[in-house]
Amino acid sequence: LGKAYSFMVRNRIPGGKITAAQMLGELDIADELGNGTMRITTRQSIQLHGVVKNNLWGVIHRINEIKLSTKSACGDVTRNICCCPAPLRHNGLRDQLQKLADEIAIHVQPTTEAYHEIWVKDPETGEKEQVVGPPVEAEPDPIYGKAYLPRKFKIALALCDDNCIDIYDNDLGLLGVTEGDELIGFNILAGGGMGTTPSKKNCFPALAKRLTFVKTEHLLPIITAIILVQRDFGNREDRSQARMKYLINNLGIPAFRQKVEEYLSQAEAICGVADGSVPRPLPEPHAADVSGHNDHMGWHEQGDGKWFLGLPIENGRVKDEGKLQLKSCFRVLFNGHVSNARLTMQQNIILCDIEPEKRGEIEQILADHGVVRIEQISNARRFSFACPALPTCGLAVTESERALPGVIDEVEAELSELGLAEEQFTIRMTGCPNGCARPYNADIGLVGRSVDGKSGEGRYTVFLGGNLLGNQMAEIYKDQVPRSEIVATLRPVFIHFKENHQPGECFGDFCHRIGVGALGEMAETAVE
Ligand code: SF4
Repeated sequence: LGKAYSFMVRNRIPGGKITAAQMLGELDIADELGNGTMRITTRQSIQLHGVVKNNLWGVIHRINEIKLSTKSACGDVTRNICCCPAPLRHNGLRDQLQKLADEIAIHVQPTTEAYHEIWVKDPETGEKEQVVGPPVEAEPDPIYGKAYLPRKFKIALALCDDNCIDIYDNDLGLLGVTEGDELIGFNILAGGGMGTTPSKKNCFPALAKRLTFVKTEHLLPIITAIILVQRDFGNREDRSQARMKYLINNLGIPAFRQKVEEYLSQAEAICGVADGSVPRPLPEPHAADVSGHNDHMGWHEQGDGKWFLGLPIENGRVKDEGKLQLKSCFRVLFNGHVSNARLTMQQNIILCDIEPEKRGEIEQILADHGVVRIEQISNARRFSFACPALPTCGLAVTESERALPGVIDEVEAELSELGLAEEQFTIRMTGCPNGCARPYNADIGLVGRSVDGKSGEGRYTVFLGGNLLGNQMAEIYKDQVPRSEIVATLRPVFIHFKENHQPGECFGDFCHRIGVGALGEMAETAVE
């Protein structure tokens, strides 16, 4: 007997847009060929876990049959393109953004035919229907060449007043700049990335740096030029140094920008636009920056007479367990009641295009299946999320998805006792330093570090000082904190915050202002 290999299969769902038929298809695949659960990811996608080797082809083939794909959802290429998912149609800005996300997703998708040969082609008939993505005849790939990228590459789009997609965490953040209801262009933010290796001094999580401003019609050439620079100059010798943040850190923004300018002609040719279309030298970024965050939960009028409902999904896991029959609820909702949905960067779901008179019916279906709405959960739970970690992630050191709900229970009790239950801040937990749940710019980041050899309890590094706005790095407050001591470790800081925060100041900004080092010293003194 061979080893019982089990895989995670990740979809590629640009902007998290998914139809009812596709959602039902994913649920069927999870039930028939996976472990019976489905996970909404931190990058607006769906992961299926527990796929054994013999079922791998069937899972990927069937994902393509429902007109989704797994092509470049993983690997050293541009990953799923993320975009604010809110179906707000009042001024057309988000529709424009989401349309651009679709165009970018097609533009940067690898053109290799191999994916279709392996996963899409019918082995018996040899039919190779092109289901999604660009034409597949171009080899070598015009953007990725023969060797693809040194490492994964993440792109996301947002508007300044709504950074729900954590734009600064991406290799390439495209921040839409508006004047009134008009999208005048994009600030290009380059070199973000959360992963790190604590044992290596030259590894670090980073927020993207502000590179330049381009008009909307120049987005594809500038994106292409930046990818080409990373392709040709990114570190291919040391994988821990391969993300674009290290290239930018080594070169500095002025030299990196110059390299991008040198590649613009090549990029324009790839994009089929005239040489010199993008003005050079590239200008400084527009003054506009992120100014707000909206998780789009609850009921909202879309602007076209219909409504959407943002529904919190704890850590993105869709399953039936006890009173919470979420998977069954999805089957009912998407079987005639809801036609479209969008997945959010916080692992939640937005049910879209609901007629006003159907709202009561939707609420009843949710209640019948024990599904809570946003009004029924605490702020501490609302803004928090965890990566999957154990038992499904091979890189996990500690628990995360299974540990965070219990930590939040304790945080809720603590905040309630201190009269801080209404505060809005984010707690993000990961099972290793790779940072998939973006812990390094959260108000409170909990990063799995080690496991107690005797008790098996996980120990975490506690970070403080990021914020919901996503434009501030957190710093280490305490290291190697046992899971059971996390809330006790935070308690002195909560008390200090309660007594000393300025009006309107969020928890992370308070920690940042006081200084995380000073908070640590204060806590030590309090213990003594
Ligand atoms: Fe990512 Fe690490 Fe969590 Fe695995 S354990 S999902 S690699 S952060």
